Amino acid sequence: ARRPFIAGNWKMNLDHLQGIALVQKLAWTLKDASFDPKAVEVAVFPPFTDLRSVQTLVDAERFTVGLGAQDLSPHDSGAYTGDVSGAFLKALDCAYVIVGHSERRQGHGETDEVVNAKVLAAVRHGLVPVICVGETEEELERHGTSAVPVRQTAAALAGVPSGTPVVIAYEPVWAIGTGKVATPETAQEVCAAIRGAVAEALGADDAAATRILYGGSVKSGNIAGFMRKPDVDGALVGGASLDPVEFAGIARFPD
Ligand code: 13P
Repeated sequence: ARRPFIAGNWKMNLDHLQGIALVQKLAWTLKDASFDPKAVEVAVFPPFTDLRSVQTLVDAERFTVGLGAQDLSPHDSGAYTGDVSGAFLKALDCAYVIVGHSERRQGHGETDEVVNAKVLAAVRHGLVPVICVGETEEELERHGTSAVPVRQTAAALAGVPSGTPVVIAYEPVWAIGTGKVATPETAQEVCAAIRGAVAEALGADDAAATRILYGGSVKSGNIAGFMRKPDVDGALVGGASLDPVEFAGIARFPD
């Protein structure tokens, strides 16, 4: 069975002091609620400048809250002003790194090729990539639900060896930050198609082990419907991850 994964993408919110306060409150809230970290994995994805501060707390809370970054360079080191190497993220105890978020595909021109190069960089440095895929409203009208996420998944995994742990997040662009949440049925359909693409790329065993998340306007009030679907293994949460009590409520979806 796949361990459910609830991931909080802070995006460009919360400086390092606010980040520390949030993680402290999150850890207390989860503990007060007798949250079982063996049953559900929780991780936060702060801005780069918060990682060092949040790391010290996350180290203390190692078994409750995990750490990831929001992006990385496709290169390992060198003359790439402003970029951050996966090696640096690994040195800060990041377990995960988000790759190919739609806000980077759209706002920073990241193509499927760039996303693939970043996935390979993450794997080189021992980070688990959380690969974001999802169609825009226009692509939805032109290609239907699964075609774009399946193409993006296949492209992102090119050259990744079987047995490499990866996480995929299905985030329909039209559902991000809009309050327009996909139905659990649509999420199931697309996540199942993505699992098929993972099977093509990495093999059936890897596909069965890979966690596939839904993202887009997830809240404590709508998470349960997604988690009941067999191919939805968790959520990548934006806005609602900035409120520790709300985010803890999402992590406690079973009750
Ligand atoms: P919202 O939860 O704010 O819709 O954002 C989703 C997202 O983009 C997470 O990466």
